[in-house]
Amino acid sequence: MNIFKLINLFENIPGISKKLAQKLALKIIDNDEVKSDLELIINEANKFKYCNICGLIFMKENNCINCGKNTEKLYVFENQLNLLSIESKTNLEGEKFVIGFESKKDFLDFDKVSHMIERINIFVKNKQIKEMIFMLSPSIETEIIIKVITEKLANSFNNIVYSKLSAGVPFGGSVEHSDEITIRKAVEKREKF
Ligand SMILES: [Zn+2]
Repeated sequence: MNIFKLINLFENIPGISKKLAQKLALKIIDNDEVKSDLELIINEANKFKYCNICGLIFMKENNCINCGKNTEKLYVFENQLNLLSIESKTNLEGEKFVIGFESKKDFLDFDKVSHMIERINIFVKNKQIKEMIFMLSPSIETEIIIKVITEKLANSFNNIVYSKLSAGVPFGGSVEHSDEITIRKAVEKREKF
């Protein structure tokens, strides 16, 4: 194995550029601290798993706590990054569901949309949800997905209130990049429909 093989291994990690891969590969050589950090990262990462129903991350040794909850509020997130970013800024009590769409293309992918609808149907089954809050960045794609979800769930729920973020988050803007106060206000003043 030559040094390029090591660089390629770093480059295989999503989000790592060629330049960064080169830097990391050079840093790890002769650096026991970085090597043990990498081992620690792998050990820690191995403890977690994505739930194939709600899409949240949970510890493998337990069942998914989020799926086991039964409150009256359900927050719906676009993807894991959005969820992490919002949760680090504000505390939301209730159940959470991650749609799991990373790009605009995903919103138009029939298989991905069908699979997501299947998951949300399983998730909400036997729950007492009274309000579903869409924590999605306002855009044409998210408007469509909200319509699809609410129409598909109409058979299972007739008394549910749907709401979405309003004040502060502009159309086309990203929830992920909004500050703490904007998100909190957008949740408080959420628009019911
Ligand atoms: Zn779950």
